[in-house]
Amino acid sequence: MGQRSDDGVNEPWRTSTRLPLILDALLGSEEEPAVRQLIDAFGGPAARAKDQLVGEPAYRSRRLQFASGGQMIMHDGVTVAVVLHAAPTGFAPGGFHLPSWIPGLDKDATLSDLKGALDAPRAPGGMGFVLDGAYVEPRFKNNRGWNEPGNLLSLSFRAEAPQHACRPEDDDCPTCSDLLVRGAHTGGMDVEQTIAALSSAAAAGLITESPSWVPLADLQQLHASQLMERVESQLSCSACLRIICLTLYRESSPTFEYAVLNEARQRPLEAIPPVEQWGDHLRIAKDRDAMHYVDHQPGSWFLVEQQGSLFLEARYCINTMVDSTALLRLDQAETDAYRTGGHNYVSDLAKRIDKSGPHTEESPYFRRDLYRGPDRAMLSSSFAAAIVNHTWAAEQRRRS
Ligand SMILES: [Zn+2]
Repeated sequence: MGQRSDDGVNEPWRTSTRLPLILDALLGSEEEPAVRQLIDAFGGPAARAKDQLVGEPAYRSRRLQFASGGQMIMHDGVTVAVVLHAAPTGFAPGGFHLPSWIPGLDKDATLSDLKGALDAPRAPGGMGFVLDGAYVEPRFKNNRGWNEPGNLLSLSFRAEAPQHACRPEDDDCPTCSDLLVRGAHTGGMDVEQTIAALSSAAAAGLITESPSWVPLADLQQLHASQLMERVESQLSCSACLRIICLTLYRESSPTFEYAVLNEARQRPLEAIPPVEQWGDHLRIAKDRDAMHYVDHQPGSWFLVEQQGSLFLEARYCINTMVDSTALLRLDQAETDAYRTGGHNYVSDLAKRIDKSGPHTEESPYFRRDLYRGPDRAMLSSSFAAAIVNHTWAAEQRRRS
């Protein structure tokens, strides 16, 4: 981060670039002079206009695409993002002519060229910059290659911080934007059909269900039981990385929202009641085979049982910066020792595991670590489901 004065006099982009045109248009409606001016500067009117409803409650996302390579995205009539497509794109085969807007910058610009041309503070996280409280983020081919010329795809400007709100460009993500099914007559969400669409996208590997929230398959039964004020499933999109939050409320209409990871994990969720209180016979039968929470020591270990066997997930340090976890099935001697020694015995065992360096082959626990085996993914999601009410994150979201 460079040296600068707070009054902005050291920010040459204000006078030497045409970026103030963009910043003035952000958060303006289509009728406002600043927005009209930007449309003119992009060579308006738009070559293409595309409208779609996003989420529930829905907002109208409108994108105006200009033959010059400029693009504006509005939410319910308010300009929320402006994108300069430096690389050729469908509506602008020539790409946006950057040098006439930001002298010294062209489509071959690298991240460090951009840094030099903007001379603005870096935004926290990611590759962006802050201009007058707005955010500008470059996109590079395959999300890398920012050090070599020829990889710059676009520059996006928006008013909301990237760590708090999804990128408006992702409104039409080809992978996850059409999973919400609306009722033919009401226009509201058809929950049954939406869950079906999400399930099949998850089965196809396009989106991934989070085991730290209510399983999609349980959502309706839990909601029908009225035991929880709100039940929520979360799924992340493999393409745009947005988190889909589908929430059914005891007292109000269901919602379908896109969130960034940071915000998604802070959403509230009560403890999920035991399945006997809300599941049907099939669901209860299925639960008999599942892993169940037994005990834990915050920051150190979790103990679960499955059909009479005990499994310990122990955290260990690889070095001062990095830690990991190992999952062991307790052998008979360890199980007996737990029956007499309880919580303290497990804490001692977890310490021994950590000290042995279970990521190294010399450790007697290396070969026993089920997370090194072929069932890793399945085990870790069964395990996450078993401890869903007991993690640090679960405590946080009960407080929100
Ligand atoms: Zn997506």
